[in-house]
Amino acid sequence: MTLATIFIAPEREKPVRNRHPWIFSGAVKKLEGTPDPGSIIEVRATDGRFLARGYYNAQSQIQARLLTWDEDESITDTWWRIRLAKAVASRSQYFDRGANTAFRLINAENDFLPGLIVDKYGDYLVLQALTLGIDVRKQMIAETLAGLVKAKGVYERSDVDVRRLEGLHTAQGPLWGAEPPPYIEIEENGVRMLVDVRAGHKTGMYLDQAENRALFGSLVARTQAKRVLNVFSYTGAFGLHAAKNGAETVNIDSSADSLDLAERNYELNDAQSEMVEGDAFSFLRAEIEQNSMYDLIVLDPPKFAQSKQHVERATRGYKDINLHAMRLVNPGGHLLTFSCSGAVDADLFQKVVFGALADSGRTGQIVRWLSAGEDHPVALTFPEGAYLKGLVVRVE
Ligand code: SAH
Repeated sequence: MTLATIFIAPEREKPVRNRHPWIFSGAVKKLEGTPDPGSIIEVRATDGRFLARGYYNAQSQIQARLLTWDEDESITDTWWRIRLAKAVASRSQYFDRGANTAFRLINAENDFLPGLIVDKYGDYLVLQALTLGIDVRKQMIAETLAGLVKAKGVYERSDVDVRRLEGLHTAQGPLWGAEPPPYIEIEENGVRMLVDVRAGHKTGMYLDQAENRALFGSLVARTQAKRVLNVFSYTGAFGLHAAKNGAETVNIDSSADSLDLAERNYELNDAQSEMVEGDAFSFLRAEIEQNSMYDLIVLDPPKFAQSKQHVERATRGYKDINLHAMRLVNPGGHLLTFSCSGAVDADLFQKVVFGALADSGRTGQIVRWLSAGEDHPVALTFPEGAYLKGLVVRVE
């Protein structure tokens, strides 16, 4: 069978040879054949040289996502099964022996499986198909992965806006095997948590912060932090790690549902916390008014910059919360501050935090640079994969 072929403009060839996984429509000089949506196509230079193979979507700005650069490798169901098995094996090196029953199993482009996110919560997998090429194969993928990790069931959470860019509607529901219970109980470094994979954020929780939450807990223990503030708490995860290490915690979030689950998570761990439902920006200001001080604060806001156009407004938001949080840190205490906006890079984020520090009138030192955990690898060929960045700042 001859595959449809796209020919790449010579000046756009280099990233393809360097194994960046995306072919933008602007790089395509010519299409030969009539590929079905999501089918495998070949990518060649204008002089006919083989470059790569990948899956195709005429409707997307990203017309092809590349799967192999080896001419001898054809993309069959067997290819997918082998690729999935490799991805699972590479993750097991880190996670089979760990104290976590929840982690990211497949991190899309970064695990060389463009468009596919799969998270593991105990005995269940939650799958997100971000692209058409994955959507048309999701049943086979779910079945293969369930077999590889012996899952009881695979649930789909493809309720994400980016699917519109691929011409897809949102999709949600059981894909394979048993339906997950209303709450799946997981364990993360000694903390128990309930996860609602149907209505929770992302696939249920923010797995990318697991290692930073462990660090947070250990910082409480090592610095003997007594009063800890978890801003943008979601279901209380950072707070729980602090409480487990003996701190008194305050969790603040604008979502009542998230705080209800946070409350249940505290009960599950025999701990208590003050829960504040409200807007973080005004809460921090009100705390300053009341001279409320903390030994350790974490700021883990939602994505302020959805794209490059929103960077300026986002940096104002980051500066505001960081400035006010720094004023609330007891001298010698710490602030963990994060940004998950891909459009705000680590350098810019550090500059914004510096600006906040300067305006707060305090002195500070960076004691650590943070990123997502080992289950969220970043392919060197795909720098776009590095979205989460954070700093541990010691404030004097
Ligand atoms: N730190 C959490 C994840 C935070 S996600 C964890 O480790 O699990 C961001 C959270 O910010 C969400 O729960 C969302 O409800 C909350 N949020 C968004 N805007 C807010 C605002 N203006 N004030 C307070 N909380 C907000």
